[in-house]
Amino acid sequence: MFPITRNQTDSAPAAEQEEEEPHQKNLPNPSLKSSRIVRIKKNVVTEEYKLSGQVLGVGFNGKVFEIFQKRTGEKYALKMLKDSLKARREAELHCRVSICPRIVQIADVFDNLYQGKKCLLLVMECMEGGELFQRIQARRDQPFTEREALAIMKSIGEAIEFLHSSNIAHRDVKPENLLYTSKHPDAQLKLTDFGFAKETTANSCLATPCYTPYYVAPEVLGPEKYDKSCDMWALGVIMYIVLCGYPPFYSNRSLTLSPGMKTRIRNGQYEFPAPEWSEVSEEAKHLIRQLLKTDPTERMTIADFMSHPWINWSVNLPQTPLHTSQVLHEESHVWEEVKEEMTNALATMRVDYEQVKIKTIADSSNPLLKKRRMKRAEKPEAAGLS
Ligand code: ATP
Ligand code: MG
Repeated sequence: MFPITRNQTDSAPAAEQEEEEPHQKNLPNPSLKSSRIVRIKKNVVTEEYKLSGQVLGVGFNGKVFEIFQKRTGEKYALKMLKDSLKARREAELHCRVSICPRIVQIADVFDNLYQGKKCLLLVMECMEGGELFQRIQARRDQPFTEREALAIMKSIGEAIEFLHSSNIAHRDVKPENLLYTSKHPDAQLKLTDFGFAKETTANSCLATPCYTPYYVAPEVLGPEKYDKSCDMWALGVIMYIVLCGYPPFYSNRSLTLSPGMKTRIRNGQYEFPAPEWSEVSEEAKHLIRQLLKTDPTERMTIADFMSHPWINWSVNLPQTPLHTSQVLHEESHVWEEVKEEMTNALATMRVDYEQVKIKTIADSSNPLLKKRRMKRAEKPEAAGLS
């Protein structure tokens, strides 16, 4: 059904010739003892898996397909990535952290040809429960409570705790990347999509601006560098939505980064309006304030988050019914728009800065500069350069 074939060429991009070798070579962090070692397979994926043709989801990088392992009959998800260094980094980092139970597991990675083009195929555990907010929105039987919100935030916190202690920042923690294992009431919530994940060790200081409106750390908007605190900011935004059903920073017109929204994010302007926030505990609000600090040096770390009283609330857990399901349901048309706008915004914002060279003034082809240069050439005095 799928034109996937064996990649008989020496397919790896330059400096990436380690196929058939365990990924140990790429492990710069010796403390990461629990890493998954995954071999990139060269045989055709269809030898081991049957592709049903069903699409499980669509992301910026393409479709995610339903597949079945021939040996066991078990269902998996297949993410196809066009082969590149970036794709290999995603596969490598995702495999490495796949040991964490709060992260979507990678079962296999194949290096095949799809329609004659080199691609990497990530075979993942199938997350049949859908996205985080779909599940909360669909809640009808009994009210969604602060206690459940706490359990959700603890799960996400555990995923980030594992990543940060492994010196990896995810950098794209957002609702579509938080999926449930099944529709079952005790399903597990897991983090996926390592397309923008990056090691935070040595010289990598996360200057790459990959972000999504609403989930962007304020400093990303300026030229400042940022690191794991970006994930902490995202955690704060998700916690805010989990507790009320709408995001803390709202742009009425468009969800792309309008100047107004940039200002709000920079200033950390948000409120806890009634009635949605009236009954929510002060501990939860305190935690959100620590996560949404605009200055990344003041923002709490994942260790602070995991030891916060709200996260560790064990007696008299707040059973407060929340407005979240109702708000998400009533505003579902906006939510779809949010996702669509987010996808569009990603297309323009996810520039891989590692491939973008910032030109020097002399090399710039900026029309204004060109004009000034021409003026200068014609009349040096008029341009004030004499
Ligand atoms: P993005 O636009 O976020 O960069 P992407 O192209 O990198 O997306 P993913 O986020 O990994 O791709 O996946 C896209 C969508 O496919 C997810 O939002 C989800 O709906 C679905 N999906 C991803 N992984 C799985 C999985 N393991 N099981 C089931 N569905 C999945
Ligand atoms: Mg995604």
